[in-house]
Amino acid sequence: MTDFGLIGHPVAHSMSKVMHEAAFRELGLEHTYGLFDVTSEELRLFMENSKFRGLNVTVPLKMEVVKYMDELSEDAAIIGSVNTIEFGNIRIGHNTDAAGFMRSLEEASVDLDAATAVVLGAGGAGRSIVFKLARCGVHVYVWNRDQKKAQALADDVLRKTDIRVEPVSQVSEVIRKSDILVNATCVGMVPDVNQTPVLSKYLHPALTVVDIVYNPAETRLLRQARDMGCRTVSGVGMLVHQGAEALRIWLDVEPPIDAMREAVLSNLGARGL
Ligand code: NAP
Repeated sequence: MTDFGLIGHPVAHSMSKVMHEAAFRELGLEHTYGLFDVTSEELRLFMENSKFRGLNVTVPLKMEVVKYMDELSEDAAIIGSVNTIEFGNIRIGHNTDAAGFMRSLEEASVDLDAATAVVLGAGGAGRSIVFKLARCGVHVYVWNRDQKKAQALADDVLRKTDIRVEPVSQVSEVIRKSDILVNATCVGMVPDVNQTPVLSKYLHPALTVVDIVYNPAETRLLRQARDMGCRTVSGVGMLVHQGAEALRIWLDVEPPIDAMREAVLSNLGARGL
């Protein structure tokens, strides 16, 4: 029997297996971690028959899986999406994307006090980040290619938290008055590594640029931002910390962050970054 795993579609290129296996090795644990390609249509049957200690959940299942949970953590309930399932007498759904993102900012000493952020992308990950930043007191602008989704997310945040985030149709002006820019779209991800969601002329040195795309570890956006003198935060940090949060939940251990990061970077061919 596999103890832990990732469900979603597709999952073959996921870093979760190498990252969690590195953690188990480092901790001297003999647990196993599998990748399970599960589509939306297959989810009900999979959940009815699954016996694990813990599961991670990725696209397109993070919202759909909520209905199979007996309980939700505070973040998962408010955000309405689950990326980590804790199995016991009951199934508890957690959202460690939000916590992982915040830890990656902490690690880079990003100051959120009275900060303003522009989040590009209102998909699954953007949603977690917008909710989390807004609840931490950050003033948030959200942009999405399909503008209706940015508006729907802003409406949802207001309804659930009474906090106003601002959907925007153009980002150049809001970037100028922001402290943090987050790319939570797929733009710049392999194989389209030459794409960037924002022209470099809109970046400024006072901006912290966070790209949650982790493959490549340094995206074109991050390279441009580095050249402009911005502080940059790679998506590898969020990936490692969301995994570390899952390990804390499943095993009540202190996760070996360095070994997990090293495994991811080595798998990405990006050691030394
Ligand atoms: P998702 O739910 O499928 O959302 C995709 C987002 O990307 C949507 O906002 C979509 O806009 C936007 N998008 C896609 N192609 C675009 C294009 N050509 N131009 C502009 N916008 C585009 O996926 P997700 O789970 O949010 O993931 C988004 C990215 O974050 C992925 O690269 C993923 O690998 C990364 N991620 C990283 C971590 C981490 O731990 N570092 C965790 C989760 C996700 P529309 O709504 O208009 O289609």
